[in-house]
Amino acid sequence: MNAPTDASVLQAPASAKATQLHARPSADFDAKLARTQALLQQAAAEFAPLTQASSLGAEDVVITHIINALSLDVPVFVLETGALHAETLALLERTRATSRAPVTVYQPVQEAVVQFVAREGQDAMYRSIALRKACCAIRKMEPLARALEGRKAWITGLRREQSAARAEVPAIDTTEARVKFNPLSDWTWGDVWHYIATRGVDYNALHDQFYPSIGCAPCTRAISLGEDFRAGRWWWEDEAAKECGLHVKKTEGSPA
Ligand code: SF4
Repeated sequence: MNAPTDASVLQAPASAKATQLHARPSADFDAKLARTQALLQQAAAEFAPLTQASSLGAEDVVITHIINALSLDVPVFVLETGALHAETLALLERTRATSRAPVTVYQPVQEAVVQFVAREGQDAMYRSIALRKACCAIRKMEPLARALEGRKAWITGLRREQSAARAEVPAIDTTEARVKFNPLSDWTWGDVWHYIATRGVDYNALHDQFYPSIGCAPCTRAISLGEDFRAGRWWWEDEAAKECGLHVKKTEGSPA
């Protein structure tokens, strides 16, 4: 079975650059950046050992850039699910080569992936939400647990603007056993791209192809102008199901 198609998706102009299209800072961008820098400094000083979770999307490259610019003792990790786009893997290699902060890659247990694919097929995620979540559990959740082992806190690129499910995201989330810092919680998409454009931050080439949210290749597509930010993630599912478990509360029945 092939990926479900969506005929409404418009192709971005081949020459479209995300920096040109999106970089529009808020009026209070400088104040937001100062708060973000202060929050990351506080996190590094008071919550070590901690780590940054990076999907290598736009928000995450901004955070890694700030961590490096401030010389913070915060290592970065990436979940290499075995299903990432070539563009994401290329950025991962460039990031590992240039980041001051160490970048660690976590992969799924290969035997678990092989057994799942043999049993359910390569395209199982399109057949049911349960199978999609089972794939995420093997390729993301189990490696995430290893990445967070022994960490007091972690840092993510969640923003309130990203989806209705994230509209209440706080800058510091203390509702779970491990503190989660969301230093870009009040940034707009325009703020993120203003930072990238003005600081010359290396970013994922998929953003130039209208992929605002970076995930696994089978489960991520480009969006058309006017679509929701996360419309390109698991687009065949209802909006309410669109989290992989990384950022869903345990009380909501997730495997997180
Ligand atoms: S996002 Fe898709 S390919 Fe990636 S782990 Fe989840 S179901 Fe599997």
